[in-house]
Amino acid sequence: MNELDNLYMEIILDHYKFPRNKADLSHIADEYLHENPSCGDSLKLELVVGGDGKIGSVCFDGHGCAISTASASLMSERLIGKTPEEARRLIDVFLKVLRGEENSDSLEEWGDLMVLGGVTQFPLRVKCATLAWHAARKSLASCTE
Ligand code: ZN
Repeated sequence: MNELDNLYMEIILDHYKFPRNKADLSHIADEYLHENPSCGDSLKLELVVGGDGKIGSVCFDGHGCAISTASASLMSERLIGKTPEEARRLIDVFLKVLRGEENSDSLEEWGDLMVLGGVTQFPLRVKCATLAWHAARKSLASCTE
């Protein structure tokens, strides 16, 4: 592993061990559980848009591997403070990068999110990294602007 890989791994492990915005979401029905059966990851997501039209909070709950947990944690930090429109744009770019349709440089302006771009080298882990993002996109689809 080169130094960059080490740095990326450190960021992922930090978010895995100390997930940001992880909360008890047992009040959310199990039918809203998002799952990635190929790895065993599952999560619920709660995204709240405040009166100012910006995302005020993003919380997640669930079990998963390091990649899925770190990805949800990193995503939650990035989405808070965005308008639903901005969030949708970021989610689309992120999903394109992870599908290999866009270069991971597209994530450069998003700082820490760059570390998840490296997951494209491991096709089996892509679903781990995108689980929370699909959940957020679904949740945003029901937001009115
Ligand atoms: Zn996983």
